[in-house]
Amino acid sequence: MSDQRPAPRAFHVMTKPRGPICNLDCAYCYYLPKEQMYPGSDFRMTDEVLESFTRQYIEAQRVPEVTFGWQGGEPLLMGIDFFERAVAYQKKHSKPGMRIINTLQSNGTLIDEDWARFFHEHDFLIGLSLDGPQEVHDAYRVDKGGNPTWERVMRGKRLMEKHEVEHNILCTVHAANAPHPVETYRFFRDEAKADFIQFIPIVRRDNATGHQEGLEVRDQSVTARQYGDFLISVFDEWVRHDVGRVYVQIFDVALAAWTGQRPGLCVFEPVCGLGMAMEHNGDLYACDHYVEPDYLLGNIMETPMIDLVTSEQQRAFGQAKLKMLPPECLECDVRFICNGACPKNRILISSDGTPNLNHLCEGYKAFFHHIDEAMRMMTEELRNRRAPANVMRIINERDLALERAFATAKRNDPCPCGSGKKFKQCHGRSRG
Ligand code: SF4
Ligand code: SF4
Repeated sequence: MSDQRPAPRAFHVMTKPRGPICNLDCAYCYYLPKEQMYPGSDFRMTDEVLESFTRQYIEAQRVPEVTFGWQGGEPLLMGIDFFERAVAYQKKHSKPGMRIINTLQSNGTLIDEDWARFFHEHDFLIGLSLDGPQEVHDAYRVDKGGNPTWERVMRGKRLMEKHEVEHNILCTVHAANAPHPVETYRFFRDEAKADFIQFIPIVRRDNATGHQEGLEVRDQSVTARQYGDFLISVFDEWVRHDVGRVYVQIFDVALAAWTGQRPGLCVFEPVCGLGMAMEHNGDLYACDHYVEPDYLLGNIMETPMIDLVTSEQQRAFGQAKLKMLPPECLECDVRFICNGACPKNRILISSDGTPNLNHLCEGYKAFFHHIDEAMRMMTEELRNRRAPANVMRIINERDLALERAFATAKRNDPCPCGSGKKFKQCHGRSRG
């Protein structure tokens, strides 16, 4: 029996040309400790690896659009010359009619005029790591000397604006910014003028390796309840003011699931295994969150990349996400969107004693229940070929009607909010 699975039409590799090397020292980073995995390495991708990867990656894709994703550590530490060669190799190996896209995740502190010009010229899409207003960003995102970085990141952002570089925001949600959801969101919307935001939960296991081992998490991690409350508060602001104007990744992904499509984000897919990570020397791993010896698929300079991607080891990794779902997830009414979420965070014991429940379960459940009504409204609008943004009018009109009903309600009336309680025990509690 063959130990290969059929080749997928497309897959993604997050590429780390400078490995885990970074000029910052963010307190929650899981990737910095990976330096220990390659003792003595200079952590610089050679041209030989770069060209071989580019050729193999393009050859293996059977879709007209190929996305290169550069990450780290901090990929800008490779210098502009490296990325000029990367773009040249892409052109050399591109197939006729193929569109090549470059995305790059950066902490933003090294972006200067030259980088901004380069990104603009080559249409790079930059993901900027920014955790919110100055105080909450600087709580954990510090440089090697422990100094704050917010001002340097904002300078990089302004340079990207000046040179019209397409960029979006990757905000991690952690113990410092989770208590400030609306302030954080409004900062992105109103001051940073962001129109695409990702909110990624920090669940950092408490160990020195950065691997997925041990069941304790570090203090910087967000709790399930905090993450749920954060998303709910941001959603409540967004659904009243910004639908169709600001794209918040998890809201978009949820709408896809509510309309019966695939979520399109690995975290919420039933299985994973199509998003790998490659270290500077060509070592290919099952996922960016599993760059550790047990999840090494092989090296693309020794084994054709497509054989590693289609290996039984990688297939089993992807399927394990589904196979290890605890009964609580199997019976859950929001499984159609959640799917137990990312296996890296499955560190809890379910109420029935089975392992592998997601650390963020309570938050996901609360959030997905909270948005159900609005998601149904938007789904209905889409079904009727109307804009989902109409949900804003519907909800704002309802808010107004409720406010009016509160203003005229008597103390012993049923509360207009529909809780079933008396007004005086519910929204009318503060009235004398
Ligand atoms: S392990 Fe998590 S991050 Fe990695 S591919 Fe699976 S769902 Fe995505
Ligand atoms: S909300 Fe919790 S129980 Fe439901 S699928 Fe997600 S992790 Fe599982």
